[in-house]
Amino acid sequence: MERYISQLNDAQKLPVLQKDGPMIIIAGAGSGKTRVLTIRIAYLMSQGVDPFNILALTFTNKAAREMKKRISDIVGSNEAKNLWMGTFHSVFARILRAESSKLGYPSNFTIYDTQDSIRLLSSIVKEMQLDKDIYKPKQLYNRISSYKNSLITVRAYFNNPELMEADAMSKKPRTGDIYQEYVDRCFKAGAMDFDDLLLKTNELLNVFPDVLSKYQDRFRYILVDEYQDTNHSQYLIVRALSDRFQNICVVGDDAQSIYAFRGANINNILNFQKDYPDVKVYRLEQNYRSTRNIVEAANSIIEKNKTKLDKVVWTHNDDGPKVKIHRSITDAEEGRFVAATIWEERMNKQLSNNSFAILYRTNAQSRAMEDALRKRDIPYRIYGGLSFYQRKEIKDVLCYLRLVLNPKDEEALIRVINYPARGIGDTTIEKLTVAANHYKRSIFEVMKNIDKIDLRLNGGTKNKLRDFVTMIESFQIISKEQDAFYVADHVAKKTGLIQELRKDNTPEGIGRLENIEELLNGIKDFIEGQREVDGATGSLTEFLEDVALATDLDKDTGDDDRVALMTIHLAKGLEFPYVFVVGMEEDLFPSAMSVNTRAELEEERRLFYVALTRAEHQAYLTYAQSRYRWGKLTDCDPSRFIDEIEPQYVEYLTPPENTYQYKPMINLDIFGDIDKSKLRLSKPTAGTPPAYITNELPKKPEGLRRLKPVNIPSKNTVDTGNNNLNAGTTVMHERFGKGIVIGIEGSGADKKAEINFEVGGVKKLLLRFAKLTIL
Ligand code: ATP
Ligand code: MG
Repeated sequence: MERYISQLNDAQKLPVLQKDGPMIIIAGAGSGKTRVLTIRIAYLMSQGVDPFNILALTFTNKAAREMKKRISDIVGSNEAKNLWMGTFHSVFARILRAESSKLGYPSNFTIYDTQDSIRLLSSIVKEMQLDKDIYKPKQLYNRISSYKNSLITVRAYFNNPELMEADAMSKKPRTGDIYQEYVDRCFKAGAMDFDDLLLKTNELLNVFPDVLSKYQDRFRYILVDEYQDTNHSQYLIVRALSDRFQNICVVGDDAQSIYAFRGANINNILNFQKDYPDVKVYRLEQNYRSTRNIVEAANSIIEKNKTKLDKVVWTHNDDGPKVKIHRSITDAEEGRFVAATIWEERMNKQLSNNSFAILYRTNAQSRAMEDALRKRDIPYRIYGGLSFYQRKEIKDVLCYLRLVLNPKDEEALIRVINYPARGIGDTTIEKLTVAANHYKRSIFEVMKNIDKIDLRLNGGTKNKLRDFVTMIESFQIISKEQDAFYVADHVAKKTGLIQELRKDNTPEGIGRLENIEELLNGIKDFIEGQREVDGATGSLTEFLEDVALATDLDKDTGDDDRVALMTIHLAKGLEFPYVFVVGMEEDLFPSAMSVNTRAELEEERRLFYVALTRAEHQAYLTYAQSRYRWGKLTDCDPSRFIDEIEPQYVEYLTPPENTYQYKPMINLDIFGDIDKSKLRLSKPTAGTPPAYITNELPKKPEGLRRLKPVNIPSKNTVDTGNNNLNAGTTVMHERFGKGIVIGIEGSGADKKAEINFEVGGVKKLLLRFAKLTIL
């Protein structure tokens, strides 16, 4: 233990060695917060604290696993396996299972994922005969989620005239009724959604003092990582559990609070000192992760935020290379630049693929990156897209399994009752749903009693329903005797899912079959892994819970040597030697929806701070001057965040080519120290005033408006605006290949060429973007 403590600096040692009492560690990125938390847990155990009494809450299950592994290395794995560690959702799902009967839920309750919840909401909207364009299911889902995370139950909602009025004002007066129906239906189905896992935990701890007391006594030491992103519901759970012993240690960085849009409350960190008057506040200042250029660049950004705690971050690390900035004409070219750079750096410095991460603001941006990486055969992995478990064929199998455990699970039932097709049509399903609502029973129970209820179904249909019930019941019997793998394998075969997929011989169809195989392998691995965990048996219940709460990050074993692609939100807490932050453009980052208030803009800036501080050795910021968004080609301006970095920490790989609006009376002193001879005056064109063009000036001079950047064609491509492309010219297009120009129309920026490509036929292309090479 001594050895590990000696690897900490003095500021880090203090919170590790303070065994008892409340404490908060507020510190900037890369200063060792997570490391301190890890060593602290090991230290507590070395001081005789029973691992059963330690609860550590992390941002992802993967983070928990890694932490546990490090602790195992220090104190031994036999001890470490008894620690309670994981995300809020996974830890409290486990507790809820143990206590479910108190809340009226079966212990094998289903966890509805977002897809299930949204589908249920859309069917409620339909049943209530409301307009789905006004009552948008996804919006309703977010709404209900935010109510639940603020502990606004249905009853609290109806006791709150302000909330009801607000919904009425926004022309959604039935929101409360929908909320009520949604909650009832989830309960009837024996299902909790993600937010219920926190809400019901609060309910459990509030309503049952004996339960509260039991867990207060169990969790004598509580530690929370990334505390700045906890929401109100999570905050209350932590407060309640730590109330008796007050051995609570939270770590966080207000500058990295990036989940306000999901209800995270930065005040949780700011108010911690009020909640625990005896709190010890620790600060860490030395960053061990990044080079000095990165640390200082990040500091210069976060300084621009008004709402923040004063914090110092410095590093003894080398200066390292400057933050590199690259401009490209299109998003496709941006992708090519990133792929080419990874390729080169990897060769020159003998790096592995997983030294690189590509971070973006929105998932949609991954496509251009993927295309480029694929062309160069660079292996990559996308995190946080559609997770493996949400793919159709996988979810079909999982829904059968859910139904086996909990036949009341209506979302699962509706999904598979007629897949593979067995002649149970929509009308029948609707009749069953209506009857189930009427008798306040589950659809499955209605099906079991189909002979006793008159639903005007013909004999054939009734037989089909009976067959389905018999099939599920036979699976239930097997599941009592066999492990999760056997059951899943059996279900995949006996339901006809596998046969159905075998019919499809396309590569996609074969891919789907392989996915099912992968799922089965995954279940095998899971069972093996569970043997290591105390008290776990590898049952179907355990597997389904693990799946329901798995984030995409969790599947990563770390053995894969791949470039990582993910949103910045997901990258929180992680670190990579080389980081590309792509799509550094206005309206994308900061997002167009976030520039209206200072608070929103500051959250975007914190997000940028998080992105930049993931880099250990080198950060690249890239932007494109045009990009396809929502199917349309749009012009883009570089992000204001690029301008906000102190210029001495950045290096432009491509000249920024800023153009500033020319006013005839302007005094050139406004351009400051730069060499005036380097200012070029652009030619006025129709609709565009003349402008100063400069490559020397990354920052916008006071009083000048920056125009859209000028498009500068890269080498090898035709300056198509002015070029003499004529009918008959043979050209090469990078995607469509070789073709012959048939005709030209328009002029200037709108100039288009009609080209007959050898493969693909005639296409009309805007020359400004077409990137043609004349052969
Ligand atoms: P973030 O805010 O991004 O979550 P953090 O404050 O949790 O960052 P860590 O991830 O714990 O920081 O540490 C950043 C890096 O610095 C890690 O690679 C860690 O191993 C290393 N590190 C932390 N403290 C020390 C130290 N005293 N000596 C050497 N390396 C250290
Ligand atoms: Mg951390």
